[in-house]
Amino acid sequence: MLISTAKTPTKRKMGNDGSSISRVKTLLTATKRRSSDSQNSESRNFDSVSRWSVCRLSNTPLRVPVVSDYRGNLFNKESVLEWLLTPHKEDYSDDQVRLFGHIKTLKDVIELHNIVEVKVQDGGSVLKCDVGDEIWGRSSGNFSYLARCGHVLPRRTLRGDLCPVCSIQYKQKDVITLNPSSGELVDLEARMAQLKSEGLTHSGKAAKTKKRKAKPTDAAVKAPKRQRC
Ligand SMILES: [Zn+2]
Repeated sequence: MLISTAKTPTKRKMGNDGSSISRVKTLLTATKRRSSDSQNSESRNFDSVSRWSVCRLSNTPLRVPVVSDYRGNLFNKESVLEWLLTPHKEDYSDDQVRLFGHIKTLKDVIELHNIVEVKVQDGGSVLKCDVGDEIWGRSSGNFSYLARCGHVLPRRTLRGDLCPVCSIQYKQKDVITLNPSSGELVDLEARMAQLKSEGLTHSGKAAKTKKRKAKPTDAAVKAPKRQRC
C-alpha cells in the first residue's frame, strides 16, 4: 500500500507567497528522505537467504574470492577493496556506513579459502564450503570459519581443536559464526573488543604497523656516494 503524501503540506507553514522555491526544496528534502529510507529498508531486507548469496557492500552476487568481517558478514573481496578506496563513502547508504564502518583496512576482513561455486538450474550459482554438501542459505545448519586460517566449516564439524581442513590448532574464540544470531553477535563483539584492547585487528594482525625509520634510509639514498679510493 502506498503511503499518502496528502498530509505533508498541511504540516508545513503555508506562507502567502506560495514560493515555488520553498516547495521545490520541500519536495527535494522529502525525496531525499524517501530514497534514504528505501536504502535502509533494502539493507534491512537482507533476509536469511540473500545474506548467504549477496555481497553486503555491492548488492551483487557473492563470487570467489569472498571475505568476512568480525561480525560474520559476507562480502566480495573486490567490493571491500572498492569500499576502502572510497574514503568518503559517497556511493554507499547511511546504513552501510553504519554497519560496515569498522572495515578500515584489509586486516579487518579475512579471506575465506575453501569456498566452492555450484551452478544452479536458473543459470546462477550458489556457494558452499568444500566440507559437507550443504548449500549456504539453503540448509538449516550453521556455518563458521576459523579466524586463524579462513576455512569455513559446518558448525557440527567443529568439535575438536584442530581445523578439519588444514589441521591448524584453534581456540573457541577463533570460531566466527557466519551470519550470526543476535546472541552469537554479542560474543563476536566481545571478542573484537578484546582484540582491540590488545592492539589487534579481526585477522589477528596488529592494528598499527610499526613505522619504518625513514630518515636514515632517505639520508643514505640522498647522500652522495663516496668515491672509492
Ligand atoms: Zn584451516
